[in-house]
Amino acid sequence: MSAAVPAGDGLFEHAACGLLLARTDGVIVRVNATLCTWLGESAEAMLAGRKLQDLFTIGGRVFHHTHCLPMLQVQASVAEVQVDLLHRDRSRVPTLMNIARRVEGDGVYDHVAFFITVERRSYERELMLARRDAEGALEARRGAEAQLQALNEQLSRDDRRKDEFLATLAHELRNPLAPVRNAIELLKMKAGPAGPSRPLQVLERQVGHLAHLVDDLMEISRITRGQVALRRQPIDLADAIRAAADDAMPIVSAARHRLDLSLPSVPLCVDADATRLMQVVLNLLTNAAKYTPPGGQIWLSAGREGDEAVITVRDTGIGIPAQSLGSIFEMFSQLTPALDRAQGGLGIGLALVRGLVELHGGSIRADSEGEGNGSVFTVRLPALPLAETGPVAAQAGPLAAAPGQLRILVVDDSPDATETMCAMLELHGHRTRSAHDGAGAQQAAATFKPAVILLDIGLPDMNGYEVARRLRAAPGGEALFMVAATGWGQQDDRQRALAAGFDHHLTKPIDFARLQLLLAEAQAR
Ligand code: ADP
Repeated sequence: MSAAVPAGDGLFEHAACGLLLARTDGVIVRVNATLCTWLGESAEAMLAGRKLQDLFTIGGRVFHHTHCLPMLQVQASVAEVQVDLLHRDRSRVPTLMNIARRVEGDGVYDHVAFFITVERRSYERELMLARRDAEGALEARRGAEAQLQALNEQLSRDDRRKDEFLATLAHELRNPLAPVRNAIELLKMKAGPAGPSRPLQVLERQVGHLAHLVDDLMEISRITRGQVALRRQPIDLADAIRAAADDAMPIVSAARHRLDLSLPSVPLCVDADATRLMQVVLNLLTNAAKYTPPGGQIWLSAGREGDEAVITVRDTGIGIPAQSLGSIFEMFSQLTPALDRAQGGLGIGLALVRGLVELHGGSIRADSEGEGNGSVFTVRLPALPLAETGPVAAQAGPLAAAPGQLRILVVDDSPDATETMCAMLELHGHRTRSAHDGAGAQQAAATFKPAVILLDIGLPDMNGYEVARRLRAAPGGEALFMVAATGWGQQDDRQRALAAGFDHHLTKPIDFARLQLLLAEAQAR
């Protein structure tokens, strides 16, 4: 039959697929060399009455009978059927088979093409292996993720437990502190005019320090547990900053630092909790004072930059190493140079500051040129638009008028009280002098010639009413602006004060904002 193959039909003979032509009953009438080679057969053997289905395995024969023949009858074609052919040595040759049934001349023939699928199979096997590997990797990753999540949960459980522990600790420490403080107050009262003994002073200072630490601890655990609610309202940032500077004065002057305050001349309004902002600035100032060797310089300034209010606290202190700038706001972070200074503290002040600033929608950063070169802390807060500052500006009016220079004599038997009050007044541009008893007050009034006298009533040698009467009676006394500071503030205290020649009466501890209003009045005289 190979003689029937037209000479030179190389394309048919040596095609890259096995080809054969069969009658509809399967008898092979033509076969190409490629297929003969794949099956290890000669063309003669293939054309000696063998049928297409004889080339298949038993399973292939059944499939051919049940599927291929009906499909050929219905649609005259079969595409990509997987069949194993039998090699002469009985080994299997996996192929894909296509059949097209065609009318040729007066007969009907099946055109059959085979493609070897060995490579495809191995490719599929590789694909399967790769898939298994990928699935394995995915499984391992899922396992690792689950482990990570479990670790994360464990960590946040530990973190929560730590926060709860801190909160409980702070709370429990606070309880015994209150009676201890009261007992100290009692001992101080018993000490009489001689004042508290040295050990009592130490006790008071240290308990104050302890209370401060416990407060910080309490605060930070409240912040981390989202329990701090801000009481926000439009405020002039300058007021909060001045108040913080006042509060920081004792520690600043104890270390003989100079504090330079620079505030904007127009109100700088923010929607904020004044007490919390004051706490922020006070913490930064306290740190500046703590971490600056005695006799240093601290600059506190505020201003508007676009729609932000910017507060900066700069010092000439020990500075912060570059690698620690990012971590100092974390809880319990304390740097070695600072620890060496044995300043106490738990390393939570800055975490507290950052928490409060962020609660206000602001940010904080630290900068330093490195150790020994001072530090700068910059707080940025969203400022209220200038248009919204009207009511606050009006409210701040009398205060804004206050800072002109006045000569003020501060009289109190406690040097601590006069020192801090003088420092606060000087911070606001006034000149001050202090005295600690009635005689000293009269003497200072004669030499210093104050415009304003802030006079405590409980003085060691004579009471404040008597001093006031004498000062009024002295030459130039009628022009004096005198403010009484008493501990009780009862109605008859006020009347007694006015009767003794005082212009005003304030209750201790003195509310500095109210005093400023009175000073503005004194100035307007
Ligand atoms: P504490 O002062 O209680 O240690 P803080 O959270 O207030 O805690 O400060 C964390 C650390 O940051 C301090 O221990 C100190 O090392 C460093 N630090 C803070 N402020 C300054 C500053 N102005 N100059 C130098 N270092 C500072």
